[in-house]
Amino acid sequence: MVHNQIFRRGITEQKILAAFTDVPRHLFVPLSKRNSSYEDYPLSIGAGQTISQPYIVALMTKVLDVCEGQKVLEIGTGSGYQAAILAHLGVEVYSVERISSLAHNAKETLARLGYSVRIHVGDGTLGWQEHSPYERIVVTAATPGVSPYWMKQLNVGGKLVVPLGGPLRQDLTVAQKVSDNDIQEDIVCGCMFVPLIGKYGYRE
Ligand code: SAH
Repeated sequence: MVHNQIFRRGITEQKILAAFTDVPRHLFVPLSKRNSSYEDYPLSIGAGQTISQPYIVALMTKVLDVCEGQKVLEIGTGSGYQAAILAHLGVEVYSVERISSLAHNAKETLARLGYSVRIHVGDGTLGWQEHSPYERIVVTAATPGVSPYWMKQLNVGGKLVVPLGGPLRQDLTVAQKVSDNDIQEDIVCGCMFVPLIGKYGYRE
C-alpha cells in the first residue's frame, strides 16, 4: 500500500510514509472487510459511511501540511483512521462525528493503539468551539461551502482542507485563512466523498 499507492503517486515525505507504515489500517476496518484493508479503494464502515482510499488520506495529510504540536480539528471521524495518522505525526487532534456508533468505535480503536485523539459527537459544521482556535481544519466529507464556524475557529494563517462541491463530485481544496474574513483557495484535484449532513452541510 505505502509503496505502490502512496509513494509511487508522488507522496514522498518520510514522516507521512512512516505514519502509513506504522498505523495498522486493518484495525479501522470492520471484520467482514479486513481482507481488503490495504486495497486501493474506500471501504464501507457501516451506517452508510466509508473509510477513504489510502491515497486520498495520504494526499489530504500532505496538503494539510502539519507540524508537530499543532492543533487540528477533523470533521468526520468515521473509522478514526485519518485521526490516527495525524496523531502519529504528533499533532493534537480534535475530531467531530455526527454518528455516535462510529464515534464510539473510533474512540475504542484509537485508545487501543494509544492515540489520544479527542472525539465529540455532534454537528461538525459548527466546528468545536471549546478547543478553538485551530491551526488546521480537515473536513473528510463532501461540503457545499465553507462553514462560518470553521472560519471563526481557524487561526489567521491556518489552513482548511475540504472537498468543496456537489454531493456527487467535489474539488479537494486547500483554503488558507489570510485575514479574519478572507480565504485563498487552491484546488488540489477532483474527489468523491460521502456528504456532510448538518446546518452548513447538504441538509440538517
Ligand atoms: N475520516 C474518516 C472518513 C470519514 S467519512 C476516516 O478516516 O475513516 C465521513 C464521515 O463524516 C462519516 O463518518 C459521516 O458520518 C461524518 N459526517 C457527516 N456529516 C457530519 C457532520 N455534520 N459532522 C460530523 N461528522 C459528519
